[in-house]
Order: sequence, then structure tokens, then C-alpha cells
Amino acid sequence: MKKAHTKSPVMRRASRIFLNDANSGKAAIVQDFLHQCHDVTQYFVDLFWQREDFTADLGDLATVHRGRDRFGITTRLAQALAKQAKEVCRAAHANGTRKPRIRRWTTTLYSHFMTLEVFTGEHFDYALRLIGSGVPRLVLPVHSTKHLNGLLDAGWTRAKTVRLGWRKGRLFVECLLEKARPALKTAGEVVGMDSNYKHGLVFSDGQTTGDTAYDTIQGFAKRQKHTHAHIKSLVGQALKQIDFTHIRVLCIEDLKHVKAFKRGTFPRRLNRRLSHWLYNFLAEKLANCCQEHGIRFERKHPWKTSQFCRFCQKWDRRNRRGDLFACRTCGHTDHADFNAAHNLAFLGLAGAYGLRSLQNAHGV
Ligand SMILES: [Zn+2]
Repeated sequence: MKKAHTKSPVMRRASRIFLNDANSGKAAIVQDFLHQCHDVTQYFVDLFWQREDFTADLGDLATVHRGRDRFGITTRLAQALAKQAKEVCRAAHANGTRKPRIRRWTTTLYSHFMTLEVFTGEHFDYALRLIGSGVPRLVLPVHSTKHLNGLLDAGWTRAKTVRLGWRKGRLFVECLLEKARPALKTAGEVVGMDSNYKHGLVFSDGQTTGDTAYDTIQGFAKRQKHTHAHIKSLVGQALKQIDFTHIRVLCIEDLKHVKAFKRGTFPRRLNRRLSHWLYNFLAEKLANCCQEHGIRFERKHPWKTSQFCRFCQKWDRRNRRGDLFACRTCGHTDHADFNAAHNLAFLGLAGAYGLRSLQNAHGV
């Protein structure tokens, strides 16, 4: 989760639509095309990585031509794929990871290759037009989705760039949407949020949500049959219950450190990878909500947040007993989850990343 916090004036979202209505002949052509794009992009990644070229500019023409000639594609397409390869290399290099392997069959295409136009006929909402310039020439009918319509109703506008992809045997198109980013709020509360599988999302301002969603997820995670899509919709519904209007800063636990710090964070019977994925997904969704509401979103170190008493600023392992927090020093009591959420808000107010740094700074 190392994302550069560039304060772009524009917020971006993507909305995926599976093209279930594409006829199999056209779908096969597009699949072949995506496979080729994948191979070309990986070829460029290998080249740039070997040269340690992590710059942001376009691929140089000599390299673009090399790819073009090797794969027999157009210069324009080679240029677009070289650019994507450069972005992939730059992101991986910035994150300090190894040479990227392109795993997804997804290609981002600008409007001179492909457009998504509003369809004027009756049966479909959009027409996905692959124009040429190295892209197979064809038109695919597209049905809109609730997700896309919701974003458009909420004032998002479609960007000219479209992403085309293939996943588990299904072709999809991804609309990229943009909206002006609201200014950060200057008034409101600093709120902390603690999540666990027992009580869902618990906010220090008293709001709770998602307990039934987490119950459901826990129930079916064992069987691994349910899709991530189902979990996404459960989390989405839970987030819709939250009132963000009075919040100025929202603090949650930093995923990097959410491990064995707290009991109840990851139940033993739940797949660990799924737990991480779920937390990551939840944090990303919350970050998006905050962005849309002009709320500052901060990640905090969860160290001792379940054992710390913010009134007397002491902690004790024995302060927490199941769902109850009872300070052994000053006698303050609270629900354990609210106490943790309050402590995250406390870190937000103190402007500290974790209790450890607060301890070092103030001798707590
Ligand atoms: Zn206390």
C-alpha cells in the first residue's frame, strides 16, 4: 500500500462492465489482441528494467520500433504499450519490488484506439468501438451497470481513456471516471475507526456498521466458494450506513502493522490472505469515501491501541478483557472496540503515527 499521496485536483475511479453480450467470434479476436498486448508489454518491461530506465517519459522511438518489428504491430500501438510498460516499471521501482511480471490481461487504450460511445439504439446503452491503428476493428454492444449509472448520477464524468481486459474467460471494459476533488474540511471531528470480525466497523463517534457483513463473510470464507465480488458488495452496503458529514479527519489502523497485535482481528478459521485482502479493500473504500467528502484520511500504527488508556496515558496488558476495557490505573472503562477507535482518534489529534512515537516525544 505504498501510494504516492499526490494531491491531484481530480479524483479517479474505474467501473468495470463484463461484456456478456459479445458474440464469441468477436470475443476471440479481442482475446487474441489482449494476449498480444500482454506479450508486447512484458517485452518492453524487460527492456526498460534491464536498462534501469524508470523515467516517466514515453519510450524512445528506437525501442518502440524494436517492439513494433518484433511483434508486427503498428508504431502507434507499440508506443502506447511501451508507455504502459514504463508506468509499470516506474511503479515497481518506486515500491522497491522486483521486475514486474504482467499477470493481468488488461490494456489501457486511448481514444484514438477505442471509444465508448452512448448507443442510440434501444437494446444497449453504449457501443464500444475499436477503431484500428493496430487494434482490431470492431464494435461491441455494452449494457450499463448500476455501479456506472450511480457514479454518473453522482456527478462523475467519463474520461476518454478506456481499459479493456480479460478475466477468467470473460471480456470486460473498464470506464475511467473523473470528478473534481473537494477541498479538505477545516471544521469537524477527528474520528477513529477500529474493525474486527466480531463487531464490524466501530467508530469513535459512536457509529457502528458491518457487523452482519463480517458475520456473513466469516460464515462462508471457509468454503472458499464465494467470490470476492460478494464480499465487496457487503462491505459497500456497510459503508453506505456511515454518516461522514461531521468528520474532518478519519484515522484507521495501518495495514502494514495489522497482524497479531489484537485478538479478534483475524479469526483462526478465516483464510489469512482473505483477511488481508478484506482489510485492504475496506481501507481503500474508506479512503475513497474520505476523498469524496473532503476528509483527511490517516493510517496509524495499532501498537498498544487496545491496551492504552487515553485518560491517564498508561497502558497495561490486563486493561483489556474480552469486550471490556477497564484501566487498572485510573479506572476508566469503555467497550474494547470503542476504546481502540478512540485511541486511533487520539493519535489523530496528537498528530502522531503511533503510541510509540508519542511515548518517545512526550515520555508517556
Ligand atoms: Zn487510565
